[in-house]
Amino acid sequence: MIQKIKIAVDGHSSCGKSTLAKELAKELGYLYIDSGAMYRAITLFAIRKNLDQNTFQEIIPLLKEINLSFKKTNSGAYSIHLNGENVEDEIRRKPVANAVSRIAEIKEVRNKLVIEQRKFGKNGGIVMDGRDIGSVVFPNAELKLFITADVDIRTNRRYLEMTQKGVSLSKEEVRKNLMERDHIDSNRKESPLIKVKEAVEINNSNLNKKEQLNLVLKIVKETISNLS
Ligand code: C5P
Repeated sequence: MIQKIKIAVDGHSSCGKSTLAKELAKELGYLYIDSGAMYRAITLFAIRKNLDQNTFQEIIPLLKEINLSFKKTNSGAYSIHLNGENVEDEIRRKPVANAVSRIAEIKEVRNKLVIEQRKFGKNGGIVMDGRDIGSVVFPNAELKLFITADVDIRTNRRYLEMTQKGVSLSKEEVRKNLMERDHIDSNRKESPLIKVKEAVEINNSNLNKKEQLNLVLKIVKETISNLS
């Protein structure tokens, strides 16, 4: 029987990690978990509660009220639910994007989510994308990828994605948000974004989605055959 492995996909904001991770999971018949959606859903909860956005410390005693789950939609994709409500669209909007990296700095938030993320992976056969998947969530993942792309390319891709969804914002705003999140995510005390030494780095600036997927599928095959 072919072994079902854990695949950690980490990297900067808007470098196509989620697209890659989702397609990879589909090809392999694995579970896909978007860990960023979990941080975003907690951020939405905090915004709705009107918490002080400077530190968001007031979220800590409220964490026990938050229940997150992923449910399959009619299209076959998974959507995140916050206390039973589908919030997949709302978590992608500006207020959440602007605040999420401050929520993600809080140790208690990370502890809660890491426990839940590990449960998803306990039987293997999972692709999870985020910032600390290879370093903290699944340090024993059989394959770790670190995805990156030039900042101008990331800005253009995110700008297109947002405008296609009808969100009105400028390229400059998109770029500023990406750079701010990268800065906070890479410099925070708790589980900063790092490239662990065993991770395979892929700069996808000059790769289209298909080329990237094929490259990664080749790496997955090699990884699995080296295990047996
Ligand atoms: O992946 P996405 O851009 O949706 O993640 C949103 C934010 O959530 C990131 O900018 C980061 O602050 C936080 N995050 C994190 N650790 C993860 C996933 C996301 O800190 N594993």
